[in-house]
Amino acid sequence: MKCSLIRDLLPLYVEGDCSPKTNKVVREHLDRCSECHKLYELINSPIDVKAITKPVTTETHTRSNEFWKRYYGRLILKGLGLFFVVYITVIKLMVLFKL
Ligand SMILES: [Zn+2]
Repeated sequence: MKCSLIRDLLPLYVEGDCSPKTNKVVREHLDRCSECHKLYELINSPIDVKAITKPVTTETHTRSNEFWKRYYGRLILKGLGLFFVVYITVIKLMVLFKL
């Protein structure tokens, strides 16, 4: 049987959903073919969900917080800058027109 067919069957084989005849064919192929055997071991190995998801979400969360801190920081600075420009212009105009 071709490697591509065996690889298609691997998830079913790992779950034990194949017929006994298919199981035998897949097992025999895995004994002979190292590439398919590596894939089988990869699929069959337990996945540590916490190890995969937790650092990623924490990092994303921190990055997101940093982004918003910087965003609002710049926004406040721009607001303050604009306020002082308008304030100084108004004072200059008041002095100029002696109000
Ligand atoms: Zn193979």
